[in-house]
Parts: sequence; structure tokens; C-alpha cells
Amino acid sequence: MTSRIRNQSVLVAGGAGFLGSHLCDRLLAEGARVLCIDNLLTGSLDNLERAFSHPRFEFILADVVKPLPGRITRRRFDRIYNLACAASPPLYQADPEHTLLTSVLGTKHLLDLSEAKAARFLLTSTSEIYGDPHVHPQPETYWGNVNSTGPRACYDEGKRCAETLSFDFDRAGRGEVRVARIFNTYGPRLSAEDGRVVSNLVSQALAGADITVFGDGSQTRSFCYVADLVGGLMALMEHDGPQPGPINLGNPTELTVRELVEVVLELTGSSSEVTHAPLPTDDPRRRRPDISKAATVLDWRPSTSLTQGLNATIDWFDQQARARKVASAA
Ligand code: NAD
Ligand code: UDP
Repeated sequence: MTSRIRNQSVLVAGGAGFLGSHLCDRLLAEGARVLCIDNLLTGSLDNLERAFSHPRFEFILADVVKPLPGRITRRRFDRIYNLACAASPPLYQADPEHTLLTSVLGTKHLLDLSEAKAARFLLTSTSEIYGDPHVHPQPETYWGNVNSTGPRACYDEGKRCAETLSFDFDRAGRGEVRVARIFNTYGPRLSAEDGRVVSNLVSQALAGADITVFGDGSQTRSFCYVADLVGGLMALMEHDGPQPGPINLGNPTELTVRELVEVVLELTGSSSEVTHAPLPTDDPRRRRPDISKAATVLDWRPSTSLTQGLNATIDWFDQQARARKVASAA
């Protein structure tokens, strides 16, 4: 893949976020020129520290809901990745209208740009488009069970609409699109304030604070390590040939939130107590990807075990907490 990516000109929208910043680093390492655009709503320039040290990297502050400025549209691109959108439930629900428009208008603006530049476009969709699934595990052929009026709808329906726009665009011959349906992903650079389960549990365990389990903790998720996921996104972007349709990317190892708590407590050696809070509205009961399509079409499957991935994540959160302590003591 390296030889294809070398010298590509790549736009990464949402590149200052958790996944986007890892993607920028990988693209730079493989020889691409990378322009990251982001409104820094949930992302941070700190995530881009390594990227900024690279001569082939550039950052432009921009909100994809608005028409893209000339200093972006005047450039040449070979590839456009759209990762722009808050992914944590409390954060994407904080301004639901902006979240919905980020997926719908943001995707439209980036698709128009990809048409103008003849650049291949990749949308990061989500397992949330399956809602609270009646089919388990979830294959790409499952149409989902989403509440279109609930508090998660701004995200779920926004992504469903972004998928629709992307496939209509492709069918109309206006460009080549790739759609990844990403399942829960974790790793270094998740923000401690992000509100997602892995970042909450790890930061609580390291601080010796109470662990918050929503509901009784019997709901399941399947967690993929970030390096595996980014490899899947790049493999999908570089996949040639006819439109493959949406492709699930995730790790099929499924566990309950209670089981995840036990693993985090064991790996951190923490004696934090578990507390329970109400289950959020429309919280899906279970989620596990069927990744047979990714395996067949892309020859992709995750290789990082939960223990390896969580250990790397815990180390990173620990370093961050120590750095904050040193900074506040100085
Ligand atoms: P994140 O919140 O860390 O990153 C999202 C980035 O998009 C942030 O840098 C944010 O500032 C930026 N952004 C948000 N709205 C924007 C706008 N209107 N204009 C420009 N930039 C904007 O989330 P993440 O986990 O890195 O997720 C990245 C993408 O992957 C998202 O589209 C998300 O829906 C998708 N995804 C992630 C997961 C996961 O588990 N991490 C799962 C499914 C889908
Ligand atoms: N969750 C939890 N405690 C937390 C944060 C989340 O028990 O501190 C639960 C949440 O209710 C959900 C699961 O963990 O059932 C995954 O939540 P997350 O927000 O990470 O992702 P999503 O719900 O979007 O899959």
C-alpha cells in the first residue's frame, strides 16, 4: 500500500480527533501529503503534535457545515477522508442540530469537493446505523432498528443520510466513494473528558474514582484497537474495482460492559468501586460486527487483542495524568 500512498495529496476532515489524528500520522508515515481540516469541537491540536513536526502536513481550521473556503477548494486532492463528526454520545447530543448538519451538509460539501478534484472519497459511518439491532452479529445487509426521533437520532440518522448521499453520488457517476461502518474503537488519544466507556473507565480506574456503569452493565459492545481500525480505513480507501458497498470495520470480540470493567480493573490494578447510573435513552443492548465482508473484500481483520490494546491505552492515559500533575505543580 505504501507505494500507492506515497505522494498522494490527502484531505482528512476531522483529522484533529481521536481516529483522524492516528490516520494523519499513518498517511504521513506512508509518504502522503496531508491537509487536516477540523473545527476543534471535540478534537485537539495536541493530537497532531507528531503530525505538525512533519513537512508534508498542514492544518486549516474549518467547519464542514459551512461551504469550504477557497484556500481548501483551490488545492488538488487524490483522496478525501471524512471523519468530521463528534462520536461520543454526550458530546454529539450537546448540539444535536450541528451534529446532524455536520453529517449531512459536511458530507455534501466534501463530496462536491471530491467531484471537483476527481478524488476518491471515504465516509466514516458507524455501527450506530444499526440502532438497537434485532440481528446479531450485524452484517452489512441488515437495515437496522433506529429511533428517528430520540436523542441519538442526530448522530444515527445523520450518518444514515450521509451514507445515502454518498451512494447516490457514486451511482450518479460523480465519483468513487467508500463507506466504512466503524464499530466501537479505542486507544491512545481518546480524551479523558470524552465520555465514552473506555476513556471513562480507564481514567476512573487510574484515579481510584468510582467506576460508572450505565444500567446493569449487561449491554454488550465489541472494541477495536485504533491501529487496526486505521489500517482498515486505508485498505478500504485503496480498494479498487466496482463499488463494494458499505463495509463493517471492528473487532468481533464481544463483551458486556461489566466484563470490560473487570478487565480494566485487573489491568490497572485499581481498587475503584463500581457505581450504577441510569442507562441512557435508546442505548443499544448489544453490538458485534460481522466482518466477513472486510475479510473477503479487503483481506482485513484486526490483530490486536483487548489486553494488548487496553494496556497501550492505560499507559497513555497514565502518562497524560502524570504530565497534568507535573504541569499543575510547576
Ligand atoms: P472525535 O470526536 O475524536 O473526532 C471527530 C473530529 O471531528 C474532531 O476533531 C472534531 O473537532 C471534528 N469535527 C466535529 N464536527 C466538525 C465540523 N462540523 N467541522 C469540522 N470538524 C468537525 O471522534 P472519533 O472517535 O475520532 O471519530 C471520528 C469519526 O469516526 C466520526 O465521524 C465518527 O462518527 C466515526 N466513528 C467513530 C467510532 C469510534 O468508536 N471512535 C465509531 C463509529 C464511527
Ligand atoms: N457506558 C457506561 N459507563 C460510562 C460510559 C458508557 O456504562 O461511563 C456504557 C454505555 O451506556 C453503552 C456502552 O458503555 O452501553 C458504550 O458506550 P459509549 O458511549 O462508549 O459508546 P456507544 O454507546 O456509542 O456504543
